[in-house]
Amino acid sequence: MRQRIGVMLGDGIGAEIVPQAVAVMEAAVAPEPDVDLELHPFPVGWSSYLDQGHTLPSTTLEGLAAMDGFVLGPIGHAQYPKDRPECVNPHPIIRKHFDLFANLRPAQSRHASSPLHDDVDLLVVRENNEGFQPDRNMVAGCGEFQPNEDAAFSIRVITRRQSERIARAAFEAARRRDGKRRVTAIHKRSVFKLTDGVFMDAVERVAKDYPDIAFDDYQVDTFAMHLVMRPQDFDVILCTNLFGDILSDEAAGLVGGLGMAPGLNTGDDYAMAQATHGSAPDIAGKGVANPYAMIVSTKMLLEWLGAEGSHDGLTRAARRIDRAVEHTIADGRHLTPDIGGSASTHDMGSAIADACSHVSLEADRKG
Ligand code: ATP
Repeated sequence: MRQRIGVMLGDGIGAEIVPQAVAVMEAAVAPEPDVDLELHPFPVGWSSYLDQGHTLPSTTLEGLAAMDGFVLGPIGHAQYPKDRPECVNPHPIIRKHFDLFANLRPAQSRHASSPLHDDVDLLVVRENNEGFQPDRNMVAGCGEFQPNEDAAFSIRVITRRQSERIARAAFEAARRRDGKRRVTAIHKRSVFKLTDGVFMDAVERVAKDYPDIAFDDYQVDTFAMHLVMRPQDFDVILCTNLFGDILSDEAAGLVGGLGMAPGLNTGDDYAMAQATHGSAPDIAGKGVANPYAMIVSTKMLLEWLGAEGSHDGLTRAARRIDRAVEHTIADGRHLTPDIGGSASTHDMGSAIADACSHVSLEADRKG
């Protein structure tokens, strides 16, 4: 089966970590005779602006539409000049264009990389296309505005439709995961009576369709404390956009930092692997960025493609990456500095790619 993957390097450390993730993906599908992985590069980000005059050329969006899935490196839009309309932030546009409404961000303890806890296994399911983020709201014309120099306003958009969709994505994820089969919804309903009222009303309705999944909810501030004190108790954490952005970074901090924070953006038709972290300009070009987040993001993409197309070869390839990552981190000789090692991005990526050829999927099943 042919799988066409659009690959976008992005900015900063993207040029270092995305090639490692691609090499690992290729190594993981190599033993699968039925999987024909086709990789198609697409320009995006600052290098695209320098080459083509736009950070997101229309040809990129058109080309991606013909792909089965995408890999997007980090985007350093905070560094783009503010006065050039061609320097747009590409990722919210891609997420909206392809209706990638659910952002899945796992935080998993992996051996030596988890200094605080060795037993965390969480999934933050974050709504992607509305909320407080002015550049992501699906309701046209809303965002931030500033009536005078001394005051500015931000509009939070919450719709019943998106709330129901993200809630369903969270409950489905809880069913698929080998976890505690629990969804915890996060809100601040006591203050945001209308917006979090609509959100929680939709979530509570959806929860009734999943009697096999435990359900509870927390105010966001209380939950931020519980997440630090007893992260082991949680499974799937269902959030609106901004709360999910913050809590997923907090969860990443529990398991080794942003280099350990993968993500997948999903919709009904497409999915895009995208690490949670940014372009890390402070370490870009030094060859020390941790490729884990990008590699595990592409693993999630293969898993999604495998489930969507009922294709066991892709599912096995994803499991192979998982085993190879686990093996490499437990082995400890090829870890980047952020998780206590001294290896380069390339060394850690190569070790994971090499491990893909010898890890046993059988061992994975036995745990
Ligand atoms: P953005 O503004 O794009 O959201 P950010 O605020 O998330 O970016 P990052 O670029 O993610 O910021 O960087 C935050 C810190 O985490 C930096 O010190 C950076 O070096 C570190 N960091 C991010 N990604 C990695 C990685 N893959 N490996 C090692 N360190 C990383």
